[in-house]
Amino acid sequence: MSISKGRRRTATPVAGSFFLCWQAAYLDRRRQSGGYAVVELIVEREARGQPGQFLMARTECGPALPRPLSLLWAEGKRVALLVKDEGQLRARMAEAPLGTRFDVRGPYGVPYRDAVEHSRRYVLVGGGSGIAPLRFLWQRHPELVESVAFGLRHTVDENFLPDTPLLIEELGQPTAGDQALHVWRPGLGLIACGPREMLRQLAAGLPERKGVYFALEERMGCGYGACQGCVVMTRDGPLRLCTDGPLVALDRLGW
Ligand SMILES: Cc1cc2nc3c(=O)[nH]c(=O)nc-3n(C[C@H](O)[C@H](O)[C@H](O)COP(=O)(O)OP(=O)(O)OC[C@H]3O[C@@H](n4cnc5c(N)ncnc54)[C@H](O)[C@@H]3O)c2cc1C
Repeated sequence: MSISKGRRRTATPVAGSFFLCWQAAYLDRRRQSGGYAVVELIVEREARGQPGQFLMARTECGPALPRPLSLLWAEGKRVALLVKDEGQLRARMAEAPLGTRFDVRGPYGVPYRDAVEHSRRYVLVGGGSGIAPLRFLWQRHPELVESVAFGLRHTVDENFLPDTPLLIEELGQPTAGDQALHVWRPGLGLIACGPREMLRQLAAGLPERKGVYFALEERMGCGYGACQGCVVMTRDGPLRLCTDGPLVALDRLGW
């Protein structure tokens, strides 16, 4: 199978990052609310992650394959993640005692800023843990952001994600996707990260596909393009989400 042709940007290792080596990451702080946890890890070397990039993480003794988790922020040797309180690894991050060791490597993936056009401003749409990379983008590059619509299914504590407007999506009430479609207007772009049904709703509701980017989630084995476990088909051929994504232009997807 040949890997996608055409114009694309590929993530490159950052000098001094822990691109290929596992690093110990110790659970240092955590707050939990509404089925999610914000976990802060102390890593051995500076993470230097950009919005949209992710770490491959595992518990010290497994699971066998590491899991991709987006950076909520990264400062020096401290990184924060927003994880759903379920699944093998994330539940462990949400429940393990402070000081517990995890292993991480990365950061991987094309930073969102490098994946989008800079000639427009964007509506950011985040659902659940998909809020993490978009909140980071909003904080780091406010010049790219027109407005944000971040949705969660359950109420969270006021300081769970400080300075972040959160829409609690009660059954039958408007969702973050609805809110984004309401504020979007021609000329604006849109960047979305969240559950597949939210992305499908946006794709169906948007009259324009130019300037629209979706972060896709697939299982990943390595994070740096070797295993090809995260390949998705696009109009230009197969694309490895870990090295060429996770953000993909909607007009490349056959949706
Ligand atoms: C680029 C990228 C960034 C991501 N960022 C984040 C993030 O910031 N935060 C976050 O919470 N997630 C994120 N994810 C998703 C996360 O990597 C996956 O959900 C991963 O599987 C979590 O690992 P886990 O061990 O916690 O859960 P897993 O044990 O892998 O479980 C994940 C889900 O799959 C279900 N599941 C597990 N095994 C089975 C099975 N055998 N059959 C059916 N269902 C099963 C579980 O019930 C659960 O709903 C990201 C994914 C990608 C690709």
